[in-house]
Amino acid sequence: MIWIDGVLVSPGEGGVYGERMLKDHRVWDPRRSKLAALFAKGGGRDLDPQMRILYLGAANGTTVSHVADYVESVYAVEFAPRPMQDLIEVARRRKNVVPIMADATHPVEYAPLVEEVDMVIQDVAQPDQAGIVLANLPFLKQDGVYILMLKTRSVDVRADPDAVITATVRNLEAGGLKVHAATRLEPFHRDHAALVCTRK
Ligand code: SAM
Repeated sequence: MIWIDGVLVSPGEGGVYGERMLKDHRVWDPRRSKLAALFAKGGGRDLDPQMRILYLGAANGTTVSHVADYVESVYAVEFAPRPMQDLIEVARRRKNVVPIMADATHPVEYAPLVEEVDMVIQDVAQPDQAGIVLANLPFLKQDGVYILMLKTRSVDVRADPDAVITATVRNLEAGGLKVHAATRLEPFHRDHAALVCTRK
């Protein structure tokens, strides 16, 4: 990853969402992106030029655009029409982004479009986030990494976030994953944790 004077950046063309530039690189703000927050907290996994990524919950492509600056290709899944319009604009300017309008709970919808990937990044605010992980696991290479950005309040708005994290880790491990770390994303994102997983 590229850090300039302690600031995480990505090496692409600017002007995607009004991000700052620093020495000709795009500043990747941990307050705008959970993946940047995970890197800021020391728990990120490096993105390399030969990697293919499946990104679930692409929204308007803020984080996708930075990931695309580092890797070979990003399959970006989003189901809401409004952010999809912005995502298509991101894909117009970044030829390695494949925008897919589909529901991440129904991977059969996009299975014909997506190759096996080195990493899945999931950021969808849904009640059954662990279930979505297990449904999308077939896309992950045997030695790939799955990063779940867990929004605990979407699982159970009243439960203690740490209890939701513990229950989610248990569900993922029962589904055949090893959870290497669960990193709380405060102070950047409240009641969120990033779970970094591989197959057992
Ligand atoms: N990851 C984005 C970023 O950092 O730029 C922000 C993602 S936003 C928190 C969550 C997005 O997930 C929303 O745009 C929402 O429409 C999308 N989403 C929620 N459930 C989904 C589903 N089942 N399938 C596809 N997208 C979904």
